[in-house]
Amino acid sequence: MKILKDVEKIEWKKCNICGLLQYEDHLRCLKCKNNDFERIEASGTCKLLTFTILKAPPAEFRDRQSYALGIVEFENGIRVLGQITTQENLKIGIELKPVYKKICNNLDGNEVHAHVFKPIN
Ligand SMILES: [Zn+2]
Repeated sequence: MKILKDVEKIEWKKCNICGLLQYEDHLRCLKCKNNDFERIEASGTCKLLTFTILKAPPAEFRDRQSYALGIVEFENGIRVLGQITTQENLKIGIELKPVYKKICNNLDGNEVHAHVFKPIN
């Protein structure tokens, strides 16, 4: 599993036959098995599709009692799972923007960076 990301872009693959959007690590289209893709980059803001408050965080986040985790969707259909910067006033449908930042040190002491989502307003 890839823990350390070195890119700030959120990039997905769009199948050139059926148009399915999927995570960049898949080698073949999950729907039609095609292996010809166009790279699609998430841009702009996104909307909160669903979220939860994690009250028993994994060991890497032991300095926090809880945090919000959500699934967001960008205008071009890309969906991403990530932490939300606040637990206050979260509602499905609110607008957020991605921020690429350090989220923790892993259990080996290395910094882990990821996209987190910050509500606009
Ligand atoms: Zn396909």
